[in-house]
Amino acid sequence: MSWSQNRSTEDLHDQMTILIGSAIRLLRGEAGVFVISNEAFDPQSSSEYTLYRLSESILPLLLKSVQEGTQPNSLHPLVARPLAPALATQLMMDEDLDELHSPEGWECCSLLLFDLSGPLGTLHFLRPTHRRSCLEGETEEEGIIRETGITLHLFIAQLATSLRFALKARSLVKEQARFAAVFQYSAEGILTVDHALRIIDFNPAMEHLTGWRESEVLGQFYFQVLRPKDRQGNDLGLQDSAILQAFAGQTVVNREMIITARDNQRFAVLVTASCVRSEKGDPINGILNVRDITRERQQEEQRSTFVSVISHELQTPISIIKGYASTLARPEVRLDSKNLRSRLVAIEEEADRLNKLVGNLLYASRIQANGLQMDLSALDLGPLVERVVRRLKIKSPGVTVNIEVPDALPPVVADRDRIEEVLQNLLDNAVKYSPQQQTLTVSCYATGEEVITSVNDHGMGISLREQEQIFNRFHRIGDPLSQAMPGAGLGLYICRAIVEAHGGHIWVESTLREGSTFSFSLPREEKAQLPMVVF
Ligand code: ADP
Repeated sequence: MSWSQNRSTEDLHDQMTILIGSAIRLLRGEAGVFVISNEAFDPQSSSEYTLYRLSESILPLLLKSVQEGTQPNSLHPLVARPLAPALATQLMMDEDLDELHSPEGWECCSLLLFDLSGPLGTLHFLRPTHRRSCLEGETEEEGIIRETGITLHLFIAQLATSLRFALKARSLVKEQARFAAVFQYSAEGILTVDHALRIIDFNPAMEHLTGWRESEVLGQFYFQVLRPKDRQGNDLGLQDSAILQAFAGQTVVNREMIITARDNQRFAVLVTASCVRSEKGDPINGILNVRDITRERQQEEQRSTFVSVISHELQTPISIIKGYASTLARPEVRLDSKNLRSRLVAIEEEADRLNKLVGNLLYASRIQANGLQMDLSALDLGPLVERVVRRLKIKSPGVTVNIEVPDALPPVVADRDRIEEVLQNLLDNAVKYSPQQQTLTVSCYATGEEVITSVNDHGMGISLREQEQIFNRFHRIGDPLSQAMPGAGLGLYICRAIVEAHGGHIWVESTLREGSTFSFSLPREEKAQLPMVVF
């Protein structure tokens, strides 16, 4: 049975009642209670007694009256005393006992249950006065019953053993329930295997991580399910099995490896293996804790990408500026005005590039820290498109840009400057990543709710896998052609933040080596219900 299947303690409660009930009947009683004296049995237990045909309401009165009389001990384990008349009357009113009648009245007996480990508890039971079981002899003074030989002691020993087992089973089931909850709700993946490395438990976190359902993997060899690899992606052999190593007594804590999910996707994980052994020391079960560290790895990668991208992007313009400036500063260098101008223009361009990079970095950190403050008003996209395209043509005269904006384009609600930045960024990218084919198209069209603006190029294109990533911070495509262009992987991240702060979306459709179309949507003025500040 796997951890994820429910177990119930109810059956065990029934067993206890049956055990107590049959003991009371053997002692010729009618009703009673077994009060556990050893609390250490199960410190979690709130009910430390088992009732047999007695109601909870009578119990405190009964126990109080019992405590006032003589107590049984190991020498005289059975004590009987007459029941106080008031309590007897109340007992007769008890629904569970209403068919019982005792003209002689009732007595309350207490039987101490103990074994070699010490006292287990006391069985208090009610029976008609003068009724005796075959286990007892005559009554001595003060209700102490003289036993008939060894029989009562044997009875006590047998009953104590059975009760000890039943109580132990009950606390084990509770313990099992606690472990099952840990197993079920653990954020870490947990799987357990038998001695032959076949899966016997597979928790929900593990299902989530691997895409396999527990029912599909139970009984399977765990190596085949996880298909573990080392950090370089080489298959691990059975000799590298974390669980086998734990079986062999080695410590396996937070070992990094890669596991393969059902859909063949790979995850970086840290595994810790442990082992449950038999009394002889043979391994019975192996337990594998699996922590997904994909996110941490991605963040690490992002940090190192950030450092390398930023240092590269800062270094390039700085060294160009420094190179030109030191040439110009040398007294022996004499340049005609055309050459002088071209160098000064280069210095200016590189300073602009630095300025843009620093601006983007500040922008990105502001997005992360506070979200974006929008200054919204009705905006006609037509004139905005024309303005941005005009500026682009001045900067890049070789580029042809077609504008396809219908005259009756409905206005949107937007922050003019920020949307200008978005369009500018998309057009800059279209030029930057289309070194051969410099014909671009900017188009706008309205749908029922939104206006969509698209920038199309016939440049290098973007693979499907990369299309999901390029809007992430610092993500640049690994392709050498793309890497050769200056950039820090911030432009599209900023564009997405701006568009989403307007309640719109941004996306790309692209075919590698054929070109890309970046589009973004903005809500139409009459439909817009926009937040002023979006975090
Ligand atoms: P960058 O400053 O690097 O250009 P962006 O965030 O603007 O940063 O773009 C992220 C990456 O997406 C770029 O490095 C580039 O690889 C890719 N990319 C963006 N626009 C295009 C495009 N029009 N065609 C091909 N690749 C593009």
